Amino acid sequence: MNTNTSERESSTAFQAFVDFTRSIYGNDFIPLHRPVFEGNEKQYLIDCIDSNFVSSVGAKVTEFEQQVAAFTGAKYAVATVNGTAALHVALQLVGVQRDDEVITQALTFIATCNALSYAGAHPVFVDVDRDTLGLGPAALRQFLGQHAEMRDGCAYNKTTGRRLAACVPMHTFGLPCRIEEIVSLCNDYSIAVVEDAAESLGSYVGTRHTGTFGKMATLSFNGNKVITTGGGGMIITDDADLAARAKYITTTAKVPHPYEFVHDEIGYNYRLPNLNAALGCAQMERLPEFLAVKADVAGRYAGFFESLGIPLMRAPEGTTANYWLGAIVLESLQERDAFLAFTNTQGVMTRPIWRLMTRLTMFQHCQHDGLANSLWLEDRVVNIPSSVPNGALPAFNPQAL
Ligand SMILES: *Cc1c(COP(=O)(O)O)cnc(C)c1O
Repeated sequence: MNTNTSERESSTAFQAFVDFTRSIYGNDFIPLHRPVFEGNEKQYLIDCIDSNFVSSVGAKVTEFEQQVAAFTGAKYAVATVNGTAALHVALQLVGVQRDDEVITQALTFIATCNALSYAGAHPVFVDVDRDTLGLGPAALRQFLGQHAEMRDGCAYNKTTGRRLAACVPMHTFGLPCRIEEIVSLCNDYSIAVVEDAAESLGSYVGTRHTGTFGKMATLSFNGNKVITTGGGGMIITDDADLAARAKYITTTAKVPHPYEFVHDEIGYNYRLPNLNAALGCAQMERLPEFLAVKADVAGRYAGFFESLGIPLMRAPEGTTANYWLGAIVLESLQERDAFLAFTNTQGVMTRPIWRLMTRLTMFQHCQHDGLANSLWLEDRVVNIPSSVPNGALPAFNPQAL
């Protein structure tokens, strides 16, 4: 659509979108992303109940961790009760302390900022790239050049006097951000990178899985993610000591002993129950299939939106996206609002991208750069239904991808 699109033309395009989405997902209410339990989910849950191991001890947790480590290529994986808890612990383990600062993007889900706040840190917001929706290396370079100074091997923020302890880039909607450049830049400043890979299970930069570039990374298995355990998360890392520490403090920091309860530091009850891990094991078996179907759906959307002249977010050059949630970029706030109202009224769920973190009461006083791209995207990006559809799709050659 061009800038002069009349409302009548818009609603024709919006109706075409509703019709197209219904051709994939059918005539009932279409949610943004629903889970699919068509494999061994029920069986593994029954196995758990029959074994009596439903809670914090059980074989499924270890099995799930091994599956995720094997899939991502990370050496170690530690399951947690959710993705927010995983991020909280990862930040603590890379050395984030009270009143440190953590650089992240203002265009993210609240969990990123909640987790760093639990660790006692303050967020500092740097702009994203328009084509990845993830933290921009150019913006990061500029921010660090302007505000960081090195003292005793650590980066400090010249403006606030606080230590810049970590950086948390996020792979938005499964589109990989420019993580290699971000890591290399952060290395120059001795800033630890923790990747928030909650949305990017199955997304790669080259052949390397997202979440394996930083010192640690975290995943989420919330009900709306690529695979789900009901609620759940995972820390992945190649560092044996950090992995062992992660397991220890997410399981109450209990000194191993057959019957004595001795805990030698403040730990967390952040472990994933065996029941949830059972779901995860069954979902991991389906993951390659889910990813193939999601790529197929993304290809269909690509062809459709091209015909309308509406940009659909695609995997940046050299990367593979999991196409967790499709995202389109509308012309203006006005068009966005009209699209949201039209589609949601028709029972096709669409949703605007998050409000920038800098708009929220808790974070509005935090330091940030100009956020030009974040502000531009905030007004225009909308998520569209992206579940794995029920049953087989009509034949389609995903050449549009
Ligand atoms: C889902 C998500 C998380 C983690 O959420 P939980 O619900 O705690 O598992 C973290 N960051 C981002 C960007 C997310 O989308």
